[in-house]
Amino acid sequence: MAGNIKVITGEMFSGKSKELSRLIERALIADLTIDVFYPVFSARDSSRDIIQRIAGLRGSLVVTGVPEGNAQELAHRINPVADVIAIDEAQFFTNDLVQVVKHLRHEGKRVLIAGLDLDYQENPFGCMGALMCIADDVMKVHAVCTACKKSDAFISHRLTAESDQVVVGETNYTALCVECYDRIIRTKQERTTDYQTA
Ligand SMILES: [Zn+2]
Repeated sequence: MAGNIKVITGEMFSGKSKELSRLIERALIADLTIDVFYPVFSARDSSRDIIQRIAGLRGSLVVTGVPEGNAQELAHRINPVADVIAIDEAQFFTNDLVQVVKHLRHEGKRVLIAGLDLDYQENPFGCMGALMCIADDVMKVHAVCTACKKSDAFISHRLTAESDQVVVGETNYTALCVECYDRIIRTKQERTTDYQTA
């Protein structure tokens, strides 16, 4: 049977991990064997949303943290008889994840991928753009903007002043729509200018 690749993407709080866990549950009901992977970094922590979401599921399911998001390491740890490979927080994996995933499709695996599309500065995050290109199916999900509470959000806006691309922790972010993002960024810049001229 031919494999395929599905990517679920969007900003934080958009329900990516929830959708991924729904697809995992669906595969378990069909009695498929599933390998779930997520990246683990020694220097930082993350909430591991996917682990909490699939904790109660029963069936042939193995969940593995991959050190430093190393895609080759992920490839080594795949159970050869697994039907479904699920990858959460794919934006943190090394770029060679794209080659690994392409290979899995040729091996007949169904690959489910969830990850952030954009970083906090509105740039494509890690290999997510390339994964969306090679996917058979891409699903974009959106949170509701936390400022206006009506438009679809498009970005995970960072609430802290750190400038690294990766600062993990849900409390450091909020989901905003384009309009509210522009307004808040502008207000921030005005404040900075006021401060500098004071
Ligand atoms: Zn808004």
